Amino acid sequence: MAVKITNDCIACGACEAECPNKAIKEGPTSYEVDPERCTECVGSHRAQQCIEICPVSAVVLEEASREPREALLERWRKLHPGEEPKNS
Ligand code: SF4
Repeated sequence: MAVKITNDCIACGACEAECPNKAIKEGPTSYEVDPERCTECVGSHRAQQCIEICPVSAVVLEEASREPREALLERWRKLHPGEEPKNS
């Protein structure tokens, strides 16, 4: 998982509502991304919804932590049994 919520997070909660995998939860100080659930939106959308919606650009994609698309798609399939991916 390459998506990270930085210290710029103002804890508005906009990203939590947009995540198709319920991967974002409120943590002790700001919102956090669950690496077991984030697929970088592969399987659901063409772009990372949390990055697009964040009003203060506090969600970033760390290129060095990118996972292969197939691994992300496999995670999506486990999270959405019986469904077909929308962007593959
Ligand atoms: Fe959720 Fe997509 Fe953001 Fe990952 S990139 S936390 S799946 S909205």
